[in-house]
Amino acid sequence: MTSSSAGPRSRAAFERAVGLMPGGVNSPARAFGAVGGTPLFIERAEGPYLFDLDGRRYIDYIGSWGPMILGHAQQPVIEAITRAASRGTSYGAPTEAESRLAEQIIEAVPSIEKVRLVNSGTEATMSAIRVARGATGRHKIVKFSGNYHGHVDSLLVAAGSAAATLGVPDSPGVTPGAGMDTIVLSYNDVSGLEAAFTQMGDQIAALILEPVVGNMGCVVPTMEFLHAARNLTSRHGSILIFDEVMTGFRVAFGGAQERFGITPDMTTLGKIVGGGMPLGAYGGKAEIMNQVLPAGKVFQAGTLSGNPVAVAAGTATLEILKNDPPYEQLERMGRRLADGLDRVATEAGIPHTVADVGSMMTLFFHPDPVTCWSDADRCDREAFGRYFWGMIGEGIYMPCSQFEALFFSRLHDEAIIDETIDAAARVLASL
Ligand code: PMP
Repeated sequence: MTSSSAGPRSRAAFERAVGLMPGGVNSPARAFGAVGGTPLFIERAEGPYLFDLDGRRYIDYIGSWGPMILGHAQQPVIEAITRAASRGTSYGAPTEAESRLAEQIIEAVPSIEKVRLVNSGTEATMSAIRVARGATGRHKIVKFSGNYHGHVDSLLVAAGSAAATLGVPDSPGVTPGAGMDTIVLSYNDVSGLEAAFTQMGDQIAALILEPVVGNMGCVVPTMEFLHAARNLTSRHGSILIFDEVMTGFRVAFGGAQERFGITPDMTTLGKIVGGGMPLGAYGGKAEIMNQVLPAGKVFQAGTLSGNPVAVAAGTATLEILKNDPPYEQLERMGRRLADGLDRVATEAGIPHTVADVGSMMTLFFHPDPVTCWSDADRCDREAFGRYFWGMIGEGIYMPCSQFEALFFSRLHDEAIIDETIDAAARVLASL
């Protein structure tokens, strides 16, 4: 058992960082703001494990918030990165490697006929929204509360993830104008969706959604809801965008759209597609993507887009996922972990519910199923915080917020999953 707080080296590193970066971090979800205390500073990672500055080892259930589905520091990926870097790290000119990755994405993701590579999930959603507006000549966007699509001004309205965790769903600095054309609805609410389209369908450029939500904890869509999203957008000439930044190559090789058999018009990708390097992508029907400059008139560009080192990491990762698919194993381990957490929480008498899709999961400190943001918002955050720190003490690194899903890798085997369940049993019994 390690300690239920950050060690002295992490604490010293954080003190230094706080003087240098806002809140000591470069992205808010890392700061442990929701659970209090000092974040662990990481020195290295290997396979399913993270190692902090104080030399403690943790089973990693964040996986860099999604990308590390293969496990950390995997040789084929590291070698691909090293080979690419040795030939120069950026050219600002086209390469054959970009076409190779584009082919892999198009082959894998049912809705994507043409794709553009960018540098992050945020860039992917921001660009997809612009293209959808450009292609339809309409302004309005539908999103769902508790869904996070990156820090795009027009989408930072009732957003999940760190925005929800920190209680600032609407950020200062986002002008009323930026959010004016954003319609916020409740996830899984079919009648709300129907009403919005009946009222404003001819003004709606796009509907964007997380086809399994990770950003208010893991929330599973009903098939009825996904079908309604597909049918209503088709009927009203709006573009359906699946934000698969988390779910792409995670809940199936072809993402949630493959898993659920529902094909959107556009898809945004990030995380796994870059194999742990900064890379995102957006794509869709050729007729839509041909609106993008220089094929069409919708502007979108990037100095480092299609960066050779990031592309190499993405290609190596997708090759492994295709040739040696881990998805059956991820499903089995997901079932084992979800059932195990459910059982030990019940034995400990903790009001809870577990939501999971394959290797995405959340133990909610709430007795009833969580289907939308207002359910998620009723969870016992204080109990969650004690659970989080208890698990840290057991050497298990889970998301530091009730409003983030956990992720695991293909290297989280039965022994690791069982070790996690045993630890959760001890922690939950002590709450
Ligand atoms: N969309 C979704 C569904 C996400 O989960 C995230 C990040 N967690 C983003 C978009 C933004 O991606 P990035 O952080 O790479 O900008």
